[in-house]
Parts: sequence; C-alpha cells; structure tokens
Amino acid sequence: MSTAFGQSTVLGYPRIGANRELKKAVEAYWAGTIDADDLESTAAGLRAEVWRTLRDARLDAIPSNVFSYYDHVLDTAVAVGAIPTRFTRLGLSALNTYFAMARGVDAEPALELTKWFDTNYHYLVPEIDSDTVFTPDPTKALREYAEAAELGITTRPVLVGPATFLLLAKGDDPFARIDDLVETYARILTALADAGVAWVQLDEPAYVADRTPNEIDALRRAYTRLGELANRPQIFVATYFGELGDALPALLGTPVEAVGLDLVAGPGNLHRLAAAGPLGGKTIVAGLVDGRNIWRTDLRAAITAGATVAGLADHMAVSTSCSLLHVPVDLADETRLDSRLSERLAFARQKVDEVVVLGRALRDGTTSLPAPVPPIPAQWRHDDVRGRLTALRPTDRQRGDYATRADRQQERLGLPELPTTTIGSFPQTSELRKARAAHRAGRLDDAGYASRMRAEVEHVIRLQEQLGLDVLVHGEPERNDMVQYFGEQLDGFAATEHGWVQSYGSRCVRPPIIYGDVARKAPMTVEWSTYAQSLTSKPVKGMLTGPVTILAWSFVRSDQPLADTADQVALALRDECHDLEAAGIRVIQVDEPALRETLPLRKSDQKAYLDWAVGAFRLATSGVADDTQIHTHLCYSEFGEVITAIDALDADVTSIEASRSKMEVLDDLAAIGYSRGVGPGVWDIHSPRVPPRDEVIEALRRAVAAVPARRLWVNPDCGLKTRAYPEVEASLRHLVAAAAEVRGN
Ligand code: GLN
Ligand code: ZN
Repeated sequence: MSTAFGQSTVLGYPRIGANRELKKAVEAYWAGTIDADDLESTAAGLRAEVWRTLRDARLDAIPSNVFSYYDHVLDTAVAVGAIPTRFTRLGLSALNTYFAMARGVDAEPALELTKWFDTNYHYLVPEIDSDTVFTPDPTKALREYAEAAELGITTRPVLVGPATFLLLAKGDDPFARIDDLVETYARILTALADAGVAWVQLDEPAYVADRTPNEIDALRRAYTRLGELANRPQIFVATYFGELGDALPALLGTPVEAVGLDLVAGPGNLHRLAAAGPLGGKTIVAGLVDGRNIWRTDLRAAITAGATVAGLADHMAVSTSCSLLHVPVDLADETRLDSRLSERLAFARQKVDEVVVLGRALRDGTTSLPAPVPPIPAQWRHDDVRGRLTALRPTDRQRGDYATRADRQQERLGLPELPTTTIGSFPQTSELRKARAAHRAGRLDDAGYASRMRAEVEHVIRLQEQLGLDVLVHGEPERNDMVQYFGEQLDGFAATEHGWVQSYGSRCVRPPIIYGDVARKAPMTVEWSTYAQSLTSKPVKGMLTGPVTILAWSFVRSDQPLADTADQVALALRDECHDLEAAGIRVIQVDEPALRETLPLRKSDQKAYLDWAVGAFRLATSGVADDTQIHTHLCYSEFGEVITAIDALDADVTSIEASRSKMEVLDDLAAIGYSRGVGPGVWDIHSPRVPPRDEVIEALRRAVAAVPARRLWVNPDCGLKTRAYPEVEASLRHLVAAAAEVRGN
C-alpha cells in the first residue's frame, strides 16, 4: 500500500523549545533537581507542541524522531545498538547511559564531540570497531510515532542513514561495517512498518562531500537492499548542505520512493537532476527554503526552481533545504528588532509557512504571493566603506618581509627565547557573569560595571606578572562571547532577544545577524587594552576576533558575496589594529578559531573560500608597522587542507592546539616550510587536569627538536575562560618553570 508523500515538509525542527525549555530541563535533571519522569514529561510536551505547530501550519508531511535529549547522531547510535561496552558496563539506566556517552562520567570520558559538517552544531562521534555488535532498538522512533498518532498526527520517523552514520564514526575502519549495519536498519524498518509507519526519512548528508567510488557503491547497495525488503515503510533519502555528485544517479537507481535535494546550498542539484534521466516515479523533495539562514525566501525564485523539478519528476514536494535545527524558533518572539529588519526575516516557524505557501503555489499554479523582499534601505549602506573596498590594492593585504619584521619586533619587545603567553581569556568567574547580568538588567550602572571589570583586569595583570609570563593579556572579562562582543559594537549587526540555536547538547548560542554594511562606529577594545598596558611594563596583547570567525558564528547577509562582507569586517578590524598600535599596544592577536570549520565540504570549492578568508585576515592585519607583532590563534590541530592557508595568513606568531596530538602539528608546519613564530599548546585546557611540570618540559623538548627555540612560543591550547583559578595558577606556574628549564639548556 502506498501513501503519497505529501506536498510540503520540513526535514527537522528545533527541539530546544521557544524558551530553551529542554536546556533547562536536562540541566535540572543533571543537577538532580528533577527526576527522569519530570524530564520525560517536559520532553513529551515539547514534542507535542512541535507536531501541533506543524499541523496547524498545514504542513502535510510531518517528521518525528527529530527530538533529542542531546544529539540525533547519538540517538541513531542507540537505535542501532552501537553503545560502546565502556558505557554499558557502567550498569546505568538507559537514560543515564545515554547521558554518560554524551557528557562522560568520572570513570569514562564522553564520546568525542565534533562539528556537524560545515555548521556550528556539534554531534557525538560514534565509536565503531570490528567487534561492535549492532542490534536494532527502534524504541525511541516508535514511541514518538505513537505519541504523535495519539494526537491524530501521522508522522515520518527520521534517522541518520547507515552510510552517513558510519562515515561520521571513528574506530578501525567503521565503513567496513556497512553491510552489517544495513541489516540492522532492515530490522528497524520492518519494526516501523509493523507499527503502521508509511514513510521513513533516512538522512545521508555525507554524500554532498567528495566520496570515493567505493562509498558511492555502498550507498547504492544499502538502499537497494533496504528497498527490496518485503515489509517496510516507503523510504525518503534526504541529502543536504550541498550538491550530490555521482551519488545522485546511484540513489535514483535504487528502489527508494523519494530523494531530497538541497537547492539552496546546492543549486547545481537542479542540473544534475535534469541530467539524471528518468526518475522512475520517484518523489523529489525539493529543499527550497533555506534551513540555515534567517532571511525570508524569495518565493518567486523558489517557485521557478520548484517548477523545474515538477517538470522533471512525477511527484514533487517542497521542503526546507535541511533541518530547521540551525535557525531560531520563532520571529514572533522578537519584539525589539527594527521593523525594516524583521520584515526580511524568517525563523523556523515562519519557514514552515513559506514551505506551505510554496507547496500550494506549485500545486495550484501561482496565486498571490507575499511581496518580494526589497533591497536593503539606503540607511544600511555605508558608501564610505564600499568606497574604501573598491579602492583597495593588493599591497593593502601585504606586510613587509618577515625577516625585517622579526628583527624590528625583537628590538622593540626584547623577549627571551621561548616566550610565555596565554591565548586571551582568564576564568569567567560567577562574580563576573553576575556583574554582566546585573549590568544588562540595569541593576549595575555603566560606571560600576566598568570599575568592576577594571578591577578584574588589574587582578589578571598582577597574577601574570607574579607568575612571570612574558607577554600578558587583559583577560577578556568584559566579553560575553568573542563574536557577540564585536557584533554589539559594529554597525550592520543586530542582536536577537530569543534567537537561540542549539550548538551541542544543552548549549545554545544566539548568533548576531549581519544585515547591512559593516562599519566601526568607534574603537572597540582600545580602552581595555590600554588600561591593562598602563599597569605593566611587559607587553600586553590586544585581542580581536578575526573576520572569518565573525562571519562563521553570525547569520550573514545573502545579498552580497561572503567575501565582501568579510572584507567589510576586516576593514573595521584594520582600523582597530591601527588604533591599538597608536595607543602603544605592541602585540595584537587576531583569533581565527573558525577558519577550518567553514571550509567547504567539496575540495573544488575550497580554494575560493581560502582565498577570500586569507585575504580578509590579511586586510585586517596588514595595516600595522613592521615592529607591531601580529599573532593569530587556531583551535584545532588537524590542519589537513588548511595548512598552506595558515601559512598564507602571514601572522608573526601562530598559536595552535597541540597537546592532545603530541606536537605533531610542528612536523606538519615544518613540512610546508612554515618559518615564523609558533606556539603549540602545551596544556590541554579542555580538561581540569593540571599538567605536571615535567610533562610540559617534555612537550617543549619535543617542540624544540622540530622548531628552533627562537621561533617557539610557550602557551596553553586555548583561552582559559572555562577553567577555574586554582588550576590556572598551578598550570601556568608549571608552564613558566618548564620554559625556564628548557631555556637553560
Ligand atoms: N582569545 C580567545 C580566548 O582566549 C580565543 C577563544 C578561542 O580560541 N575560541 O578566549
Ligand atoms: Zn582556541
């Protein structure tokens, strides 16, 4: 028996609740203030609310199993029984085993957390080995399906597909287990069919990245096998975040009933579909509404694309380009946004309406559509900024030669060999957070707040002097978040009140919206940095967030190329560098922790991205004199494709995460001929553990063997904002002592 797919759908919906109810409930459960039943009833309430919302919006194909207590990849691991024995042997309840995998317990570290494709969402990495025993456990999917059915709502359970699941896993060759895993999916699908499920959605986004013929062949085998099952729901394979290559004809050749394509991030999917030949009665689910950005859809353009799909396929449905997990819940909750901005926006709830309107228009022929979005108003343009950008010459992204710079900087700074420093932030104590909250709520006035922050800066400077560090920082007490802090001070950025998006587990972020030309109204950091510098004769680093990271952690305007927005941000930072320098700051660090995470998924797109990313960084940092030292900081150690780009940033000093990878990064840098300063992290700050002095000495000895001591810096892996003072003091003491010891040799 076959049921039509429906006309309009979403691939997923935010699960945190409009007021982050889920965050509050799981955190209360972890703290022991509510029990499992309380947690479960909050969760059931949130799920019911989502289904009712989607039904009332007249969406006619509604997903389920998109709820998660922590992460949907972890849910899929549980559904296929891939729970590592190190967790099953803890003997905990199912729920607590789940949270143990997500967060770790004293005896067992959590599963690794990593970025979900090129988004800012993080998933838990399944651990799959040759001896992992897969066993089907469709409990969660069945429960959610039944819950929705109780409400009279028929849903389509969603799971991560078997091929993507294994491609995201780690272990010794997880992908070798594909045929095995597919048998487990077969049993899950049969169980779903027995419960009356008509459609299931299996997500295979991994196939929008470069894949080997073997991986594509495995995809074909997987869906041929699942498609041939006698007793199963109809299968919808969803892909998103880009263009499918050879995986498209492979999928179209299998018996699955529906295939989803992202036409926002992968407009080329349209041509591929046209070239693919007969579609064999399949439903094509056209992702026409952007699931990752917050702008209203250009409905006319979407209808044109949708009509092309309709001309190629027997059946088509309209959907979001990916799950709506990546956008805030409801624009209606924003009461303070300028109306000229809010009329351009669509959050998850509004995007559902767009999908429904598009589905109807494509079925019934275009009727009346809402007015198109007007171009940005003149007030949001900064012609001065645009003028400066058009007048840029290549030399504006170029500093003097490095050897000269290094000499001048050394003359001015007089640093010892193996200089010690930190990455910027010092512990964000609860008193600091309280002061910020009080200031925001108006309970602490500007002067009171500033003096509180200045006291903190002074404390941090005194501590660093006492510890004997060489290049100091002010500690960043005034920053809530390294992007939001700049967003709040730049023109062209807006902050939302409730625009929360899940980053991982219970952690949510509120990305700023870049809606107009970016311009600096006034110096942003100079007061803090010069105050800190006034307290010491040692150099204090100015601290800025780089253009790529600012874009990566914001919602970015879509009416001009990213490269142009990045350059606008870069100009603002260039002016800031200039002002810091003029105020006597001798070292400036421009952080780019997001440089690698927004790397395009396909190799063929990477060069263009790295070109503008590097160009923007250089525009931001090339306006200073030779004797001003530019640092950058990167938060990862697997450089892979970006290593030459890191070299091309041309920073005088690069600090990088290295302690977990045992300094391997140094060999990688040496291999490409990197010849400037480098600070491989010698203290893993993601753990509360204090590295013993001898361990730091050993790490430094390894580093000195790979990099001449005059180019080597001594620093932690990352900022210290999540750490507590006792660990920080002890660890930094070891760091300074280790540097002294190794210098002595
Ligand atoms: N300067 C920032 C800090 O120390 C860098 C943070 C980061 O790398 N993510 O907090
Ligand atoms: Zn970092």
